[in-house]
Amino acid sequence: MAKKIRHPKKPKPKKAEVKPPKQRVVADAKAALGNVKPMTAAEIEECFRRFREAAPEPQTELKYTNPFTLLVAVVLSAQATDAGVNKATPALFAAADTPEKMAKLGEAKIRNFVKTIGLFRTKAKNVAALSKILAENHGSEIPRTREALQALPGVGRKTANVVLNVAFGEETMAVDTHIFRVSNRTGLAEGKNPEAVEQKLEQVVPKPYRRHAHHWLILHGRYVCVARRPLCERCIINDLCHWPGKTVLQKTVLQKAS
Ligand code: SF4
Repeated sequence: MAKKIRHPKKPKPKKAEVKPPKQRVVADAKAALGNVKPMTAAEIEECFRRFREAAPEPQTELKYTNPFTLLVAVVLSAQATDAGVNKATPALFAAADTPEKMAKLGEAKIRNFVKTIGLFRTKAKNVAALSKILAENHGSEIPRTREALQALPGVGRKTANVVLNVAFGEETMAVDTHIFRVSNRTGLAEGKNPEAVEQKLEQVVPKPYRRHAHHWLILHGRYVCVARRPLCERCIINDLCHWPGKTVLQKTVLQKAS
């Protein structure tokens, strides 16, 4: 008897997905990101002029005492908050603030110091390994090239850029989640990944602002242009921002408030 041929069941048509209002706002905002009109050169200049006026000398919020402890702090800060890293590092750096001391301290003790930070096991391993390499191959100096920095365990492009900028004054753009969002959202520098945004920022940020540009953008993204509900009503670049989802205070509201 011939076998019955079974045809695979047709998938049922999906019901139209109805998103709750808050989720819809976020989804709409994400969809709009690809359609933001680029800022003009004059708008970019004005944007950074205002950032500089508001914070002439922006600093990293990570605590460190020398280029080595800066490197360690940045490695520890991957996928963690600066505040969380700052709680753990003073005791660690009091115990070891040079590559030799850190290598001598060893992975197990480092782990104990940083156990409150996310991914602490991998990070402790990387800090111990990079300290040993610095002590043995670099005379305990922090390399000044991106290639040599990125060859160290746990050091990626962003970490290398932060160290080059903060420790050595180079005009690098360390694109983190905040800079990536702010750059795309405002029309300052569009890019599908952090490296594309970094390259675009290097092209469009005027020379006098390049040294501090990444700090201004991080601070703006961390405290004003936050991911879910940006605080457009108190944003100093509101009139320059091209994000279609931005909120603008209506004149009548402004008039009532004054
Ligand atoms: S206006 Fe809103 S969306 Fe635009 S940069 Fe300011 S906070 Fe961000």
